[in-house]
Amino acid sequence: MIPLKPIILMENYEQLLQEAYEKIKPTEECDRFEIKKIEGHIQGNKTIISNFGEIARCIRRKPEELTKFLLRELASSGEINGERLILTRKVSSKNINDKIEKYVKKYVYCPKCKKPDTELINESGKKYIRCLACGHKQEIE
Ligand SMILES: [Zn+2]
Repeated sequence: MIPLKPIILMENYEQLLQEAYEKIKPTEECDRFEIKKIEGHIQGNKTIISNFGEIARCIRRKPEELTKFLLRELASSGEINGERLILTRKVSSKNINDKIEKYVKKYVYCPKCKKPDTELINESGKKYIRCLACGHKQEIE
């Protein structure tokens, strides 16, 4: 009927979907903290990690942050594509899993109490890890 209405409805619908997704998805996949093993395959000269979004959610970090770390560590370029991370070179699963573990040790586990209930914060250009369990806060590189 009126052309504006369906558009608004569609936007609301997508927003609802997005909200539902964000609420339900993490608990479905990992109600507790967990370092998932990657699932993926090599395609030509590329490495496709198909469960990358899930991995990031389960360690409670933004996919972009984890990607930045991995690309540097693996000396690869790459991009996030939906739930997937595509690396522009061939990398073994073991190598990627090791790097994810390294990331978690450095950027997720609290340096003091070793619990994973932490968050990364930026304050005056510096990066800190803050523990929600014991309150410890420490600058990280
Ligand atoms: Zn702590």
